[in-house]
Amino acid sequence: MHIILVGPPGAGKGTQAANLVDEFGVPHIATGDIFRSAIKNKTQLGKKAKEYIDQGQLVPDEVTIGIVEERLSEDDCQEGFILDGFPRTVTQADALNDILADLNIKLDTVLNIEVSEEEVVRRLSGRRICSECGASYHLEFNPPQDKNICDKCSGELYQREDDEPETIKERLEVYKEQTEPLINYYKEKGILKSINGEAVPQEVFTRIKQELS
Ligand code: AMP
Repeated sequence: MHIILVGPPGAGKGTQAANLVDEFGVPHIATGDIFRSAIKNKTQLGKKAKEYIDQGQLVPDEVTIGIVEERLSEDDCQEGFILDGFPRTVTQADALNDILADLNIKLDTVLNIEVSEEEVVRRLSGRRICSECGASYHLEFNPPQDKNICDKCSGELYQREDDEPETIKERLEVYKEQTEPLINYYKEKGILKSINGEAVPQEVFTRIKQELS
């Protein structure tokens, strides 16, 4: 079960990736999470990534591809993975083809989660993340009991800097220019499945399972 999740920021890729991981027991590889963890730990990678992320820009391909290559080469990826947020450019997708060919891994499906731009803005502006366990909430659709505290681990909740209104706009532009071409790229390879992502997470997951079965 080797799956890629694509879709605009706020499409619910992280939420659905977590559901898929629970269902299939394969590793979840999210480049955004890798970068946020590096930023939290103040590593060299974190410092570099932060310059781009805070502005809504993509981290350069040469940085991102190396990280993913290293992670995919670990043994636990042989049986499957959920790749969330990578690839985001055609250069990354071409590099991924080479990496997977070297590892003798065949991609099964690229799931494209579709949501409108309006919905993306609504979702991202209300999103809150736990600084300890990374759990994701929404002030309106999935509110925590206390707006500042994580229900699961009592960690402090924060708003991602890149979920500020100006940065959301920039991220959407970047998505349209650099990532959307991947939809045709994978359609031509015959492995793209598109899912309407405008429903509650459980319903979207039901749709995904139907597509995968
Ligand atoms: P995400 O959590 O997937 O929304 O990613 C947050 C931010 O991390 C993005 O807006 C980018 O700045 C950066 N990022 C994540 N994945 C990639 C990628 N594959 N290529 C370049 N930048 C990325």
